[in-house]
This record gives sequence, structure tokens and C-alpha cells, in this order.
Amino acid sequence: KKHQDPAGAYFSIDEETKFQRQARLEQDIQHALKAGQLQLWYQPKVDARTHMVAAAEALLRWKHPEYGWVSPEEFIPLAESNRAIINIGRWVINQAIADASCWQQRSGPIAIAFNMSAIQLFDGQLLPTINNALARHQLNPELVVVELTESVLIDQPEFALSVLQQMIDAGLRVSIDDFGTGYSSMSYLRDFPVHEIKIDRSLVRNVASNPAGAVIVNTILSLGKNLDLEVVAEGVEQTSEAAYLSTKGCDLLQGYLFSKPIPNPQFMERLDQINSPQPEPLQPAEHGV
Ligand code: C2E
Ligand code: MG
Ligand code: MG
Ligand code: MG
Repeated sequence: KKHQDPAGAYFSIDEETKFQRQARLEQDIQHALKAGQLQLWYQPKVDARTHMVAAAEALLRWKHPEYGWVSPEEFIPLAESNRAIINIGRWVINQAIADASCWQQRSGPIAIAFNMSAIQLFDGQLLPTINNALARHQLNPELVVVELTESVLIDQPEFALSVLQQMIDAGLRVSIDDFGTGYSSMSYLRDFPVHEIKIDRSLVRNVASNPAGAVIVNTILSLGKNLDLEVVAEGVEQTSEAAYLSTKGCDLLQGYLFSKPIPNPQFMERLDQINSPQPEPLQPAEHGV
């Protein structure tokens, strides 16, 4: 039993190992950037009708010298707690914008999305960092999508609103990640000037065969349409899910069905394959299904 031994037999062996790993990772994440252990991989967001790549989401990857690949689900919270995420986030912004500028020259404009922690949002250098990167790489701000989760907006709504407004004024686009989970409050859609919502993958799963799930997704899609928002489905793994979402008017699809997150050189190869001009469209663009 826990709490019995005041001398410290509080954690089970498993918990202790986990605790030690976390402590080690929290220590090491502070040097990971300088040590060249971080990479930015990209996952396409495709047009739901044509399956052309419209955008890409940048996702951090960390190769730890001892533990190997560590998931961002594990290391982002640690980097938030010791604020290493501030410098890492700045690097992400610069790298993502540099890469998107490269794609633009190669294959035409592709929007670039990156994820933002609350801590980054409250860092006064955020907007200058983005604006400097855009100027340096001559990229249009309308091609930049900032992905935030609801919790970021709800914790400190007044401050979040002012930062969001500054981002919108700078011409950036704002996206609500993991929509439909967490707080599921919708008042912020009224109060915050967002452009896009991303339906959480837990709702996308089996949408074509689960009647209750389909009702929820259809409701989000009509909400998005009525508020004039771009709607993205994340975690699309099955052709049946993609077909269903496309029929119901979802704008963009993202998921393993189209591509896992991949390193930039592979992403550029994909772009050449998928977005190069085709003799005829991949799919007939039928309207009014
Ligand atoms: P997210 O922004 O919601 O990203 C989507 C996650 O779902 C990614 O996990 C992606 O690899 C995964 N995914 C995409 N398609 C599928 C699919 O079809 N099936 C399944 N099962 N999963 C799919 P990843 O890369 O492990 O990232 C996890 C989370 O870590 C992200 O969730 C995001 O919240 C955070 N994150 C990643 N990179 C950054 C970053 O640069 N900054 C910040 N602040 N957070 C980041
Ligand atoms: Mg995201
Ligand atoms: Mg998400
Ligand atoms: Mg997520």
C-alpha cells in the first residue's frame, strides 16, 4: 500500500522508474535543441475532394541519445514545465516557415501549421518571432496557421483574446486543435476570431459506421459551415472515413490514410508526386452530392 512508509517507499518500482525517466527527460530536453536532437516532421492536410496537399502540420520529433525516439505527448509537457518550450517553439516557428518558403518556390503555396503551447502564447516575443521569420523568408502570413487547444483560450481568456487579435491583425490564421474533446465549451467560437477547427481523431474514428459518432461529426461540420470556418478532420485512417467526411462537406483531411508525419525531404518528394500538374484530376470534382 502507498503512504505507509514515511521513509519513502511511496512509489511502486514502475512508478519510480517512470519518475526517474521523466526527471531525466525534463533535464535533457533543455539541451536537446543545441545538441541537434530535435527534428521537425510534416504531415499533409489534404483537400477533401481532390486529395491535393493544401497544408502541412509541423510536428516535433526528439531522438534521445539513450531512450531513442520520445513522443511529443511525453516531452512537450516537460518542456512546458521548465519553459524549454519557449526556445524550442521559436526554433519550430523559424524552421517551419523556412521550409514552407522552400515548398512555395518548388511547388507553389502550401499553408504551414504549427502547434502552440499556452506558455508560448504568453511569451511577448511570439509575434515578433513569427513576423521576423515571415519577412526573412518572404512568406505570406495568410499561409501560417497557428494551432491552439481550447484549454489555452479558456485558462486566461482576456489575455488569449488580445494575443489572438494581434495574430489575426498580422494576417495569420488561427485553428482550434482537438475540437470536441476537453472542455467542449463553444462560447469561444463566438468570442474568438478563429479560422479553422480540427475535429479530434477520437470523433473521426469509425465515423462512417457509428451512427452516434456520425451525428456528432455532422453537427460539428454544420457548425463550422454556419460560422464560416474551415473544418479539418484529424486522424483519418480509413477510406470509408475519408469518403464519408468528404461527402458531408469537410474541407480538409489529415491522417495516416494519406501520410504519417515525415521528414522534410520525404515531404517534398510527396509534394512533387501529389501536387505536380496531372493530365486530369485524380477524382472528378463533383459538386452537390
Ligand atoms: P496534435 O497537434 O493534435 O497532432 C496530431 C497527432 O496525431 C500527432 O501526434 C500525429 O502524428 C498523430 N496522428 C496524425 N494522424 C494520425 C492517424 O491517422 N492516426 C493516429 N493514431 N494518429 C495520428 P504526435 O506527432 O505524436 O504529436 C502529439 C501532440 O504533441 C500534438 O497533437 C501536439 O499537441 C503536440 N506537439 C507536437 N509538436 C509540437 C510542437 O512543435 N509544439 C507544441 N507546443 N506541441 C507539439
Ligand atoms: Mg495540431
Ligand atoms: Mg489534434
Ligand atoms: Mg493532440
